[in-house]
Amino acid sequence: MGVKTGIEWTEATWNPLTGCTQVSPGCAYCYAKILSRRLKAMGNPRYVNNFELTLHPDLLELPLKWKSPLIIGRYIDDRARF
Ligand code: SF4
Repeated sequence: MGVKTGIEWTEATWNPLTGCTQVSPGCAYCYAKILSRRLKAMGNPRYVNNFELTLHPDLLELPLKWKSPLIIGRYIDDRARF
């Protein structure tokens, strides 16, 4: 979260929000929900609330510390609320 990454389509990830609200039948197969369970099982402290929408205030200003512009990839959160 908020770090340079090896993901080929982005240069860094930044996820000040985790979780989401399932709002449609299409959410039944949500990849982000499955991944959040996995990350919690791996002990990632950002996912202690499972898939419940959670703000991580300590990450909000993280991009301000980056020295050069980066392409940011965000995922596993409720983008409509951000
Ligand atoms: S990220 Fe949210 S809106 Fe998208 S499929 Fe998952 S629960 Fe539904």
